[in-house]
Amino acid sequence: AAATRPAQDLLARRHATLGSHSPLFYETPLELVSGNGVWLTDAQGRTYLDGYNNVPHVGHANPVVADAVNAQLRTINLHTRYLNSRVVEYAEALLATFGDGLQRLFLTNSGSEANELALRVARQHSGNTGVLVSDFSYHGNTTSLAELTTGLQVREPLGAHVRPVRIPDALAADAGERLLEQALAEVDAAIASLQEAGHGVSAFLFDPLFSTEGLLQPPAGYVDGVAARVRAAGGLVIADEVQSGFGRVGSSMWGHQMFGIEPDLVTLGKPMGNGYPVGGVVTTADLLDEFGRNNMYFNTFAGTPVSSAAGLAVLQVMEEEGLMAQAAGVGAHIADRLRPLAAKSTHVGAVRGRGLFFGLDIVEADGTPAPALAKALIEDMKTRGVLISRVGRHDNVLKMRPPMVFTREHADQLLEQLGLALEALEK
Ligand code: PMP
Repeated sequence: AAATRPAQDLLARRHATLGSHSPLFYETPLELVSGNGVWLTDAQGRTYLDGYNNVPHVGHANPVVADAVNAQLRTINLHTRYLNSRVVEYAEALLATFGDGLQRLFLTNSGSEANELALRVARQHSGNTGVLVSDFSYHGNTTSLAELTTGLQVREPLGAHVRPVRIPDALAADAGERLLEQALAEVDAAIASLQEAGHGVSAFLFDPLFSTEGLLQPPAGYVDGVAARVRAAGGLVIADEVQSGFGRVGSSMWGHQMFGIEPDLVTLGKPMGNGYPVGGVVTTADLLDEFGRNNMYFNTFAGTPVSSAAGLAVLQVMEEEGLMAQAAGVGAHIADRLRPLAAKSTHVGAVRGRGLFFGLDIVEADGTPAPALAKALIEDMKTRGVLISRVGRHDNVLKMRPPMVFTREHADQLLEQLGLALEALEK
């Protein structure tokens, strides 16, 4: 009891200052006091394997990032209206990871700012306001993003210019032969409806991993099919790579590359600065110039030498440690081990994900979603020293998305505990 006392006090103080609605994970919230690589330590000195956090991309408390930020803070830090080499070096390094068409960068401080800006670019370019989004998604916390949020609780009503479409899932038990055809027909109808209402189409905004949706896997031909339709209607394609970017999918640096398409705008955030706030929008020279001619885009904290140093350090560590290839290898190993685990358990449906972002549908014996079981599993995994979470329309898809320095040994530890937790459910 003595050990839990300070945590109770901290929780009360948090409620008294940040309010009781400020979200926290777990029935008994975890007070984490330090991190190192894939490990986190709580206030009682217990360590946990981090199977959840993607922001510490190159590892918690990464010394290369910390040193780069510290050295830059001690040298100079200022906004981008003076010349400084750091932001240019960062832009060059980042853009080198993109295709030939995507060679310009706007910097922001968050994923929300990036999506907000991308939507502005699309509106101005197209002269339209209509937006297509998935019918269970999250793209950020500004007013205009709240107006198109379908996947998390927000009070803002859906914008009149927003058309949510259901993302087809090839892994769903009831996925029929006409899955692709039906989903594209729904997109055609949404576009027609935007045009009839006078909004027109400005953009299709999507997360290539459809993670909030529950790691859905659209059939081949879907994402490129939507992109072609939106472009034919005069709109732009925005890939929100806040979760799917920076080598997470293993097979490529950017999630959109899985579909063989090149979006008009790619938005970035979360892992970009390893926790130091850095976000951005990568786009074409034409779109950036067009926007720049008509607007002054200035963002005080974005693209400072310090945020650029953080971003550069992340790319440097990724390169030196071969983390994208590691994500591919460890991810394949995990997928191989998850399948038999799933086959053994009456409570696991589809095995989902790609690279170092994987999920399991937790279901009742009859295949219906089992959110309460998923929640119990996550709590049990915590007592077993492993942090994971859940997503999806029914909140029943286990979400495992560790720092990119997660190795095969770490994966085996996670899988061993997950196997035991699933076995315990059978009893
Ligand atoms: N897009 C996606 C796909 C996200 O997951 C998030 C954050 N959960 C955002 C955008 C918003 O990013 P931020 O919280 O940095 O504003």
